[in-house]
Amino acid sequence: MQRRNFIKGAAAGLGLAAAALAPKSQSAELPNIRWRLASSFPKSLDTIYGGAELLADRLNKITSGRFQIRVYAGGEIVPGLQVLDAVQQGTVECGHSAGYYYVGKNMALAFDTAMPFGLTARQQIAWMYFGGGMPLMRELYKEYNIVNFPGGNTGTQMGGWFRKEIHSVADLKGLKMRIPGIGGKIMARLGALPQTLAGGDIYPALERGAIDAAEWVGPYDDEKLGFHKIAKHYYYPGFWEGGPQLSFYVNAQKWAELPPAYQQAFETAAAEANINMLAEYDSKNPPAVMRLAKGGVKLHAFPKDIMDAAYDAAFDIYEDEAKVNPRFARIYSEWKKFRDQEIVWHRLAEASFSNYLYSRK
Ligand code: CA
Repeated sequence: MQRRNFIKGAAAGLGLAAAALAPKSQSAELPNIRWRLASSFPKSLDTIYGGAELLADRLNKITSGRFQIRVYAGGEIVPGLQVLDAVQQGTVECGHSAGYYYVGKNMALAFDTAMPFGLTARQQIAWMYFGGGMPLMRELYKEYNIVNFPGGNTGTQMGGWFRKEIHSVADLKGLKMRIPGIGGKIMARLGALPQTLAGGDIYPALERGAIDAAEWVGPYDDEKLGFHKIAKHYYYPGFWEGGPQLSFYVNAQKWAELPPAYQQAFETAAAEANINMLAEYDSKNPPAVMRLAKGGVKLHAFPKDIMDAAYDAAFDIYEDEAKVNPRFARIYSEWKKFRDQEIVWHRLAEASFSNYLYSRK
């Protein structure tokens, strides 16, 4: 208040200078806000976890330290898979998570992350920002008292680590694989036994033979967990995660209380985090996959019959869900139209360009 009075007094005395001082006095009125962000991710996933730190750092700097967010890793104040609930209830003001962790609430939440055989990272970004994805997702998250923002993407993931080579669908029968979510449902339809294990539990399970295969993220993250020491066959692509998007969640009341300038700052910082994560993965995965291959890892494409059977199983699951879940049905039909157009366009320009470059390598 003292500062404001001083500025007012000084400005009155200086005539014209009052106009120049006005914005300064307005910004001085922006409040100090301290939020807590619960991440679903461990610090060891530095690329993903780092998305929330980037958001917090930018907001801190843009607002000259007035709007500060403290980031907590998965399990520190909220269990990793309960971030949506914590933000919904206002236990924390915001979170960083992935919609597909919550398909038990509504399978439609997976559209916010990745659907098997769905969108690539670029297509997901296009869908969210321009293709109608954002309004559909905002409407869905409203049921959970959340305002959502795209908050990073890993790019197409790898299909995972197998102790033995697989040649056809028959080899999946009875195979115990760590693969959560809808990808796991698909593997089950193909005869495998999907398991849900947290990141830190995968290596010991694979090592003692409790599981035969495991998917995680991609070369950069997988290498850190050391799967290549016990399973030599590394399959691609992770068709269940063609371009999985992470999301920032903000409690709807807390969002409404933010000054518009902070809302703008949040949206801007979230968009930067969204692009930044993908760029980081695209720069870190290539050297990691080279190191793994040099170290004796064998890279394999999934056999075509597995891809085909998985594709059919995925769309059977979507059609079945659409019959019983009107919200899913509505998003699915919009999403599918968008996806089908994207495939045609990306095949024409992007894929033909890439394929030519590969042919000259
Ligand atoms: Ca994965």
